Amino acid sequence: MRQFAYQRAADASDALSAIAQPESKFLGGGTNLVDLMKMGVERPVRLIDITRVPLSTIEEHGGGVRIGAMARNSDVAAHPLIRQRYPVLSEALLSGASPQLRNMATMGGNLMQRTRCYYFYDPSFRECNKRTPGSGCAALHGFSRIHAILGASQHCIATHPSDMCVALAALEAVINVRGPRGERAIPMASFHRLPGTTPHLDTNLQRDELITSIDLPSIAPRSHYLKIRDRNSYAFALVSVAAVLDIDGSGVIREARLALGGVSHKPWRVPEAEGILAGRKPEEAAYKAAADALLKGARPQRYNGFKVELARRSIVRALTTTAATA
Ligand code: SF4
Repeated sequence: MRQFAYQRAADASDALSAIAQPESKFLGGGTNLVDLMKMGVERPVRLIDITRVPLSTIEEHGGGVRIGAMARNSDVAAHPLIRQRYPVLSEALLSGASPQLRNMATMGGNLMQRTRCYYFYDPSFRECNKRTPGSGCAALHGFSRIHAILGASQHCIATHPSDMCVALAALEAVINVRGPRGERAIPMASFHRLPGTTPHLDTNLQRDELITSIDLPSIAPRSHYLKIRDRNSYAFALVSVAAVLDIDGSGVIREARLALGGVSHKPWRVPEAEGILAGRKPEEAAYKAAADALLKGARPQRYNGFKVELARRSIVRALTTTAATA
């Protein structure tokens, strides 16, 4: 690991002054960044520890809930406001990593997780446009079982690894950030990027901006997260589904939100798929039609054709479970 300087920030202003120094990175729980530093993928000159920055409250805000960026994943998953109003988020957080990692990982850090593409993690593979722009993509002609089926490019076929982010996408969360140019709010839909020709850029957050909080809007509490993986714990999603349903008193879907994980470089949403469900009874034919729309244009890689049918069935199952919740 490259040697680095360590600096602890007392508050947000302190953190923003420190990050202005070149080749500096924020350190939250460190559950992803430190691994990448050990592998030589990330090589910061300076780490700015922001875990003491007072941004960890979880409170009601504007009809919804505001979660501080430094709140730990385990605290958010267990919080009564989240469990009661946003079960999809609590379930997604609890499906990720291990209890020890969830105790360390912060909400802001989870938003910034990087792909688990094998070739990205292992610098002995020279080709990786995400690690070294312009070097190529080893996964294109390698083992592509965990890779994308939607939204990929010829420059990168990696998937986004976070469960939490899939739930936040379905909830239409807003990410609040602060930087030298002031504060701004980034809708979850435009926080992460598709790879295009710039797969080294995972998000639209600027290097000198600090995530301060995540806003969850008020929604109907009928929601669910389904994660399909190779083993039932401590594994990334092959496919996951975050579903939110608002069903009126006569049993008709008023509004639906769906996001897919494990299939693209960012949580995958298609508004037309959600529109198909509005005004329909919560039944299998409607779910299958929405699944077809959500997966339209899917292009599997050589080793992951199974993901298309797996996603289709997962969408139907997730919606069936969501509709049955009280
Ligand atoms: Fe790198 Fe993306 Fe290709 Fe993986 S899929 S090797 S992260 S460029």
